[in-house]
Amino acid sequence: MTDTQARANATASTSTPATSSSAPVPPGATNPVAFAPAAARTAADVVTPEVVAQLVRGVVGSGRTANHTPFTGERLAELPESTPEDVAEAFARARAAQPAWAATPVRRRAAVLLRFHDLLLERQAEVLDLIQLETGKARLHAHEEVQAVTLAARHYGVRAAAYLGPKRRGGAVPALTKVTELRQPRGVVGQISPWNYPLELSVGDALPAFAAGNAVVMKPDTETALTALWARDLLVEAGLPAEVFQVVLGDGPVVGPEVVRHADYVSFTGSTRTGREVAKGAAARLVGVSLELGGKNAMLVLRDADVEKAAAGAVRACFSSAGQLCISIERLYVHESVADAFLERFVARTKAMRLGTALAYGADMGSLVGERQLETVVRHVEEAVAKGAEVLAGGVARPDVGPLFYEPTILDGVREPMAVCGEETFGPVVSVYRFTDEDEVVERANATPYGLNASVWTKDGRRGLAVASRLRAGTVNINEGYGAAYGSVQAPMGGMKDSGLGRRHGSEGILKYTEAQTVAHQRLMPLAPSFGMDDEKYAAFMSRSLRLMKALRLR
Ligand code: NAD
Repeated sequence: MTDTQARANATASTSTPATSSSAPVPPGATNPVAFAPAAARTAADVVTPEVVAQLVRGVVGSGRTANHTPFTGERLAELPESTPEDVAEAFARARAAQPAWAATPVRRRAAVLLRFHDLLLERQAEVLDLIQLETGKARLHAHEEVQAVTLAARHYGVRAAAYLGPKRRGGAVPALTKVTELRQPRGVVGQISPWNYPLELSVGDALPAFAAGNAVVMKPDTETALTALWARDLLVEAGLPAEVFQVVLGDGPVVGPEVVRHADYVSFTGSTRTGREVAKGAAARLVGVSLELGGKNAMLVLRDADVEKAAAGAVRACFSSAGQLCISIERLYVHESVADAFLERFVARTKAMRLGTALAYGADMGSLVGERQLETVVRHVEEAVAKGAEVLAGGVARPDVGPLFYEPTILDGVREPMAVCGEETFGPVVSVYRFTDEDEVVERANATPYGLNASVWTKDGRRGLAVASRLRAGTVNINEGYGAAYGSVQAPMGGMKDSGLGRRHGSEGILKYTEAQTVAHQRLMPLAPSFGMDDEKYAAFMSRSLRLMKALRLR
């Protein structure tokens, strides 16, 4: 019997009281146990032939593919696969439907988002089951997607008209030039999304594109297509014309470039490597692109941090969705003076987590999504240990819970050139580093090609803001890991450096789906010599006017 199996056998039958990342830690927890409530729904109860038949009507595809659940490896559904001709057909349909949608008043378009918001909250149980089955995540982490999508639906539902409405701007010549800035939809947006947040990063990110009057052709990851298709149906039920939302499915390297080839704008979320390919395709066609890419996010526990709260926050920040979250924390810098107290609590909380596959609340962490993810996690941990890192918690797979489960893992003594030090693991693995000097830790946190998210823990808000402003990351959370900034949908979210281009949320998250159009109406006098002025007099008149405009501080 291997160590892993021995530990699995010893812990699988143990039961512990319910825990959550903010609850007190049960005494004596040694390793994560399996959470397995007696009566829970199964994949067969949820993904019935009727459900699949209903959902696949949304796909333009003539081939055959399938998806699977990471919980057991079983096939979930047979799905259509799209050929390049199918992708062209999907764009043709979307293009035909888009002008009527763009002509619909913005308030009516936005009202669809508000109805979608209500329907999603009402029918959340259905999609929580699908998200869990397709991604293998714990139900609480699936619910984070419902929260994120409803926040975005409400925000753009309420604010779209203000973001998109005509704006008066100062003209070249005050009073004589009347300027209106308009926002025109791009046309048909091609959206390519990953598997890790299949509701939020598919339909959630498409909501502002629709509010701005675009049609969308979406390519979700095939393994999580049912979630995206379910949300498409719900959006149609909320009033979106079905033809403006087309879905294509298939292999990323085959179908993805076809989407880029036809789109008027590309919205991509996924790895930095694929993002570069997508950017090249968009550049060749001179269409705009937004790229939400990878990260190697740092959390800084300053010497005045509340270590109890920081330890609970670190569990959420590192292990939500089994760390398969672009904004989750993989590097943890702790001030030397609080490192022992923090680590004692963080390790205890991590060991008390419950792993599970049930379609019910109660597990603290779910599965990895695929073999490739598990291989990366195992490779990163094994290589680090072989080169001298110490495992403070976890460090083993848990096939007793499910074929792709891996324990939440804390590593100490990690240093270059261990892969886990600089590469994105995208799994439940965090490395702990101690520091003594704040300037030095800011430098170390910034020493990565990525710049997506960061987290700072301190009791002093001003100090937190000062440190945050020196971090090269698109979002920084103070006394939280990632949710505070991500959920604040009025403000932009996205990556610096290799973590991306462009932003979701806020004004940038909707205006990127538009083309700015400036309409200038010249009145009374042309921008040319007039009223008998010769060229020289006109030039002198304009020079005087320019000086006057600056003196009056006209904008
Ligand atoms: P991925 O890049 O492999 O795939 C993303 C999507 O692109 C999938 O739909 C895939 O089928 C498609 N694709 C693959 N090859 C393509 C190609 N040549 N052209 C066009 N499309 C192609 O990424 P993944 O493994 O699915 O997702 C994990 C990565 O996504 C991680 O790096 C993670 O950090 C990142 N991510 C970033 C954010 C963010 O908001 N910044 C959010 C979630 C995930």
